[in-house]
Amino acid sequence: MTGLKDRKLTSEVNPAEQVSFAETAMRLGGKSEEESKRTGAVDSADDQVEALFAAQYKTSNSPIHKAVWDAKTPIELFATPKFDEKSLDIPEVRRSIEVVKRHDQAKTLYDEKGKISEEVIHDLGTAGYWGLFIPKRYGGQGLSVRAFMNFLGRVAALNPMVAALNSVHSCIGAVDPLCAFGNEEQKNKYLPKLASGEMISAFGLTEPNAGSDLTALRTTAVLDKDEYVLNGEKLFITNAVLGRTVCVVCIIDGKPACLVVEFPKQESENFQLITYGLYAVKRAYNLGFRFTNFRVPKENLLVPSSGDGLTIAYHGLNRGRLALCAASSAGMKSMLANMVPWSRFRETYGNAIIKRELVKRRIAKTAGLIAGAEALYNWGSWLLDQGYRGELECIIAKIFGSEAQKEVAIEYFMKTHGGRSFMHGHLFGDNVHEFLAPCIYEGEGEVLGMAFFKSLAKDHGVRFFEPVGKALARNKMKTLNPVNPAHVWALRNELIPYSLWFAGKVLEPKGSPDLPQMNAALKDHIEWASKQLQGSPFELSLNMVKHQLKLTDRQCRIADMSERIQWMIIMLVTAMWAHAEGDEVIQASADVLCQTIRFKLSGKRPTDEYYRSLCKVADLIIEKGYPGVSTIEPDAVLFPYSKVPTA
Ligand SMILES: Cc1cc2nc3c(=O)[nH]c(=O)nc-3n(C[C@H](O)[C@H](O)[C@H](O)COP(=O)(O)OP(=O)(O)OC[C@H]3O[C@@H](n4cnc5c(N)ncnc54)[C@H](O)[C@@H]3O)c2cc1C
Repeated sequence: MTGLKDRKLTSEVNPAEQVSFAETAMRLGGKSEEESKRTGAVDSADDQVEALFAAQYKTSNSPIHKAVWDAKTPIELFATPKFDEKSLDIPEVRRSIEVVKRHDQAKTLYDEKGKISEEVIHDLGTAGYWGLFIPKRYGGQGLSVRAFMNFLGRVAALNPMVAALNSVHSCIGAVDPLCAFGNEEQKNKYLPKLASGEMISAFGLTEPNAGSDLTALRTTAVLDKDEYVLNGEKLFITNAVLGRTVCVVCIIDGKPACLVVEFPKQESENFQLITYGLYAVKRAYNLGFRFTNFRVPKENLLVPSSGDGLTIAYHGLNRGRLALCAASSAGMKSMLANMVPWSRFRETYGNAIIKRELVKRRIAKTAGLIAGAEALYNWGSWLLDQGYRGELECIIAKIFGSEAQKEVAIEYFMKTHGGRSFMHGHLFGDNVHEFLAPCIYEGEGEVLGMAFFKSLAKDHGVRFFEPVGKALARNKMKTLNPVNPAHVWALRNELIPYSLWFAGKVLEPKGSPDLPQMNAALKDHIEWASKQLQGSPFELSLNMVKHQLKLTDRQCRIADMSERIQWMIIMLVTAMWAHAEGDEVIQASADVLCQTIRFKLSGKRPTDEYYRSLCKVADLIIEKGYPGVSTIEPDAVLFPYSKVPTA
């Protein structure tokens, strides 16, 4: 599998059997046994994913972790190279695009229920679409993560749901789990069929009882001779159509596991689909299903070298989150492609609204958010291709992509189009749920933001705070009061390493990153963000000292710290990517995003100079176009009218 290279895998001892830091902290913090165990299960699953990666690719050595905890920003890990267009110059890519365009022009993309039709899915299979992310030796094209994500972005600009179906199939469906964790027999059996489109896959994780909380899964599989017997119910599964191949996460022997399940062609007493009305992903089937003593061959169980079914799910979700960000950037480009001609057309008080400052601000901010999303998915996929685990980096891409698309849709696109936004046939009105749903699927943003913080703080917590927590318990103390000499004396052995770390951090020389010759504004943003990041270890660590074992309950503080760090990282990534792209419009858009973030983080009021710069960037975009947007055909203006009033 591209991005997960065997040489980067380790066979280090599985830490699953140890009680995790989170579980220890929860228990010491007075949480119930059940909550402690459940949190511990998630934390252990995370440890097990970590165990799959060699040291330099683990979270504690990831670009974000280093940028936050090291003295100097490792700028080379943020220097996403320019995307090599040649990596997409293959017949399968061209043919796939051609299939989508052909069906779009012939208006044959959708079936009688308005979903992407089986004929389109078949034609895409013939073109090679479903195998682009599958290695060549199994009948696919073996695109790198970066090439695949860029390709999906382009398909999403033509038709978001066609792109989403391949993201489901290749990232979270059966393809990634089989490529990364399947044995040779499983790969040979399934991957060629998944590459040709004979099999299309989906991902069955969510249950009525378990969405954000994956420790609550209730679907079980019990081994009976040569087969697993499945019982349980799944909900919200995109592309869960009869005959599909679904990677089902279920509980086997008390632990999450992944089974490749071939759905039957017909419903039966053992297998039923569950239907409901759903506003989002309206161009695809999204269904629930119920297993009642449904039998699956035991060879279909995927067994990772470390961890369990959640390890497999997390691996695919990382790729899915990048794909979501790529699709969001395409969604925002489609909105920009419509915003400009409409704003040129619409006149109020004798002037086209495109000349107004408020509208220019919307155009500039939209472009800034597009630049941020493009930068993040390109950066994240570049890191996965190098072998990084990329958990933090993929979470940022997911949160930013979904939130940016929501902001553009509601704040800029809807407002600029006024009442017409709500008409049937308008891109906003017809797709408002599509623009919002990414904030929820593949992990709700704020819940992911907390996971981001926990991963970032985990190494520091294990090194310095776990020993303190254990010493508190040993000494029958509830909290540590750092100004109480008796407390300090009792915990002196545990506090010394922390004090040394703190003193070292205060004294260590801090410097700006070594930057290449670059646009002065972007350089200034990178230096500013790096400086802010240098303060993060103190903020994080002092909050851990302040809230101690209750920190997990301080969700709002965690969310706030997580978000601030995310913004700083977004500045670094966007400015470095824009530098490498070298395009004037992209660099100006990246500058808009970075300036906006700076005002947000510093709490200062925007200056007139900032507003002037937004107008200038909007003028540049209106004149030259944001790269890639001109290929998107804008919709016709609804209710056009003559510009010359009739007498
Ligand atoms: C359009 C669509 C497509 C989907 N496709 C798939 C698919 O293909 N396969 C699949 O397996 N799933 C799919 N899902 C499910 C999706 O991943 C879940 O909806 C999502 O993970 C959130 O789970 P939930 O809906 O159960 O939210 P819940 O778990 O009910 O949570 C609701 C909200 O409560 C809050 N919350 C939850 N826990 C906490 C906490 N500990 N602290 C603070 N706040 C908390 C969060 O804001 C959260 O959003 C899809 C969903 C949608 C809407």
